[in-house]
Amino acid sequence: MSQLIQVKARKALDNMMPYSPGKPIWEVQKELGIEKVVKLASNENPLGASPKAVEALVAYLPEIHRYPDASTKGLNEVIASALQLTPDQLIVTNGADELIKLVAEAFLEEGDEVVVPHPSFSEYEFGAHLMGAVPVAVPLDESYQYHVDDLLVAVTERTKMVFLCSPNNPTGTYLPKTELKHLLDALPKKVLVMYDAAYSHYVSAEDYTDGFEFVRGGYPIIVLQTFSKIYGLAGIRVGFGAAPSPLISSILQVKEPFNVNSLAQEAAKAAITDTEHVEASQRVNALGREQLYEAFRRLGLSYTESMTNFILVKLGPDAKEVYTRLMENGVIVRYGGTWGMPEHIRVTVGTSEENEFFIEKLTLVLS
Ligand SMILES: *Cc1c(COP(=O)(O)O)cnc(C)c1O
Repeated sequence: MSQLIQVKARKALDNMMPYSPGKPIWEVQKELGIEKVVKLASNENPLGASPKAVEALVAYLPEIHRYPDASTKGLNEVIASALQLTPDQLIVTNGADELIKLVAEAFLEEGDEVVVPHPSFSEYEFGAHLMGAVPVAVPLDESYQYHVDDLLVAVTERTKMVFLCSPNNPTGTYLPKTELKHLLDALPKKVLVMYDAAYSHYVSAEDYTDGFEFVRGGYPIIVLQTFSKIYGLAGIRVGFGAAPSPLISSILQVKEPFNVNSLAQEAAKAAITDTEHVEASQRVNALGREQLYEAFRRLGLSYTESMTNFILVKLGPDAKEVYTRLMENGVIVRYGGTWGMPEHIRVTVGTSEENEFFIEKLTLVLS
């Protein structure tokens, strides 16, 4: 049989690692035969979707035999007015993951270098490898802070893009606005900055920027946003990019016409204007972060202060064992091994009940 298949996939695929997602609840229930499972592994919103989004979805159901709006006109207008941008500075995508892929396809040539902080979100390397570009990893410092000068040192003649994730997944640390401006001013103008602000709504630091002011200012920056986190729409797949319009035009050239389904468009329109849901989510998250910090201190565990809805915790050499035993006790978190951090786990901030359940099981497993 196998000798019939002599078709070779592209060489670039040899470098590509599969994405490792958080385990779904049903899988753990089935594999371990346990009923109560709390998932704190994928930074989903523990309050669920924006209720206004759900209402909009239901109302739209009778129309789903129609193709979606290929240019997402209505949604672009709603986002533009919410963010003081113009519709031509926006592209809506099938999750923000699709934006990363489209940007790679639109801008990267084989052999281009792409500066990627480490540890960070794995999809940046995916985009680079897909196009035969070369990711150049720049480590964050020992407390997981960014240093713009380290990023600048990694820039060469061949650098085409710099990825930044602020606040950063999986560390929860962020780059202050003055530092981002310093980077943008110091980079050669032919270098594109991809600024991933997926967690911007959870940031309380005064000196943070969501990056949109630099889009308005005409810098070569693409700001990434997603509806999967604070808006609670991870399952329906919708995100967007904001950038000066010439950059958006190039990305639109590689997009499939109907990349964003109509239910996603309707849900996103409602969610972005649902300030009540956003504020409730921010409150639950701020309280939950404190609840978890306090437990980690009580347990003598070191953690990284987070500007997001997740916390990186250092468990030491037994981290993988603890991760597995938490799972057996019905708590799914993310193990740090995938980021080259074998002594860490990343835990999503849940509702206070979910956090309490996690703390109870962690205390048990560590005792
Ligand atoms: C979740 C996440 C995204 C985007 O997720 P989508 O579900 O594809 O919209 C992008 N960047 C980071 C850092 C994330 O954690």
